[in-house]
Amino acid sequence: MKSRVPALCLSVSILGACHSYGAATAGFDDFGSQRKYELGRVDTTAIVQLYADGFDQLKLSDKILAYHLAQAAIAGRDIAIDQRFAYDLAIRYVLESLWLVREELPADVRAEVERYTQLFWVHNGIHNNLSTKKELLRLDRAQFDAAIGVAQKKGMVFDAAHLAPAKNLDQIHAICTDAHSYVSVTDKSPEGGGDPVAASCNNLYVGCTSADLENFTEHYGLNSRVVKRSDGTLEEQVYRSGDGKSVPPGLYADRIAAVNGHLRDALPFAPAPTKKALELLIKYNETGESQDWRAFNIAWVQDKDSVVDFALGFIEVYLDVRGIKGAWQAVISFRNEEKTHEIAALAQQTQWFEDHMPWEARFKKAEVKGISARAISVITETGDCGPITPIGVNLPNEADIRRDYGSKSVNLSNVVAAYDRTSGKGSAREFSFTAEEAERAAKYASAMDDLHTNLHEVVGHASGQVLPEVRNPAQMLGTFYSTLEEGRADLVGLYWIADQKLRDMGLVPDDDAVLAKYEAYTRNALLQLRRVPEGGKIEEDHMRNRQMIVHWLMKNSDAIAVEHKDGKTYYRVTSIAAYREGCGKLLAEVMRIKATGDFKAGKALVETYGTKVDPALRAEVVQRLASLNLPSVTGFVQPELKAEKDAAGKITDVQVWYPCDLADQMLRWSGRRR
Ligand SMILES: [Zn+2]
Repeated sequence: MKSRVPALCLSVSILGACHSYGAATAGFDDFGSQRKYELGRVDTTAIVQLYADGFDQLKLSDKILAYHLAQAAIAGRDIAIDQRFAYDLAIRYVLESLWLVREELPADVRAEVERYTQLFWVHNGIHNNLSTKKELLRLDRAQFDAAIGVAQKKGMVFDAAHLAPAKNLDQIHAICTDAHSYVSVTDKSPEGGGDPVAASCNNLYVGCTSADLENFTEHYGLNSRVVKRSDGTLEEQVYRSGDGKSVPPGLYADRIAAVNGHLRDALPFAPAPTKKALELLIKYNETGESQDWRAFNIAWVQDKDSVVDFALGFIEVYLDVRGIKGAWQAVISFRNEEKTHEIAALAQQTQWFEDHMPWEARFKKAEVKGISARAISVITETGDCGPITPIGVNLPNEADIRRDYGSKSVNLSNVVAAYDRTSGKGSAREFSFTAEEAERAAKYASAMDDLHTNLHEVVGHASGQVLPEVRNPAQMLGTFYSTLEEGRADLVGLYWIADQKLRDMGLVPDDDAVLAKYEAYTRNALLQLRRVPEGGKIEEDHMRNRQMIVHWLMKNSDAIAVEHKDGKTYYRVTSIAAYREGCGKLLAEVMRIKATGDFKAGKALVETYGTKVDPALRAEVVQRLASLNLPSVTGFVQPELKAEKDAAGKITDVQVWYPCDLADQMLRWSGRRR
């Protein structure tokens, strides 16, 4: 599971350490004043450079290990793009071709090519990563054809092989410009009660409906797609490379084989526990079998002390309306020792938290096992985790492995630091009811956000137990599971942040810090409305859970008052005690829903409080934010690793460097530029 930041950025661009090799050698945050963080803005999407300070201090074997893992991350990234939408890779080829000749295009056409291509890069396709909706290309047919003509003169080819599965450029243009086709990549509750599987245009199901899938048992589940054949039968297509012997290749075989090549290169440099996990991952990539995935995860979760780590494969299920199929992702990272220390303090107390949770005793774990919490610095994120990245991750997702072997929980500390550098104090000011509230936000919000994320990941997701007869709550709660589980983890954080325990641990200084967190969380329910398309509903799970919590508190507690001043709406937190008590009550109910697999209650909770949008309020929020010029989402340009080799081709050192240029990175990674 991953948690996401309310990505708000104010533009602060200062001269940068870009393109310099190994500039970062001192402490974590010493570079802010000379560095370039926000690189640019496309519509409401910000582009920010991510920095991996501390990489230079790693020992050589860890650097080389990280280098090969980063190569694997890059080798697999197109899988995720293809999973989002079957036409995305062909569209990318066309867009990148136009990008490469953009200087020869008319100014207005060039501007649109730049806008649309950059959005594609950040969102891994033509559908917005948060709203799930298609972004439309604003080039008419004549403009598009003329631009293609310029590219053709430069030798670019638009034949069937480059455009497949699209038939021709007509179809590519139509897909990118038609507001009525392929509208949403993940539509969990379509207008008028339509079918979620059919309404979602992702590439996880081809020609299927929910009814088709009802009595179909998938063998692979997480790493497959289901295609309805012309005779009406269903075919499950597994993602795997094959082993060259008895196991035939499957979908994405070439890319998965390339990933495995880099993983094999990494083996000699990996410490023993990492090596064991990598060998099992290589095997799983060959076979696609769930027992191999399970064996890998057990080895991976037990590899707790290695400095360099990775999360690589078909993992998170947010793209799938059924919550079964994993989107390919890669997170390559190393441990941030300083920040890991803070999280470890929480991890040591997980049993205490479990014993004191505000839910029924039968839902409490007698023994919370092996939570390995750490702060990491991301080196490379691709696929489902990049350029748009989570800020916290807790894996593996498989409930039985978590129960028997524990889980790894991480805070992506350099991502959080980059958000802190760029995130907007302006929005806090605009949506604070009083000047004191804005001051509290400036003083505490970032530290308390960090703490809340840690509580969410380390204590939240790991907590609670389901009844023995509820084997898989995700299956029983269906499309509402992710929202409810994210809500549960958020509520754990909100509930405990106000407790004396956190004061005693030295993690929360005073009441004002708690109030600042409650206020920030509550303001966010207003702020995030800017990401909802006009006339739309809230689809994304983390957004739904935040709406659910805040609106539930409004209706069922005295914690939040809705205020109006000068025609503006404010959510004011009136009582820390009432807020906390409300969170405790809702937490107990969400835990009960998960533990008993109560679909009806879960659906009612999410649909009553989490999905609806007041169009007038949304319009007001959009208008208030427009004047602040805040982005709704951030895409990160990844740090890159460069290997230095001797005459024999042996790697002698690895340097980290920062491209500070999204286009440069994307074009090199897709092989369009050297
Ligand atoms: Zn989460």
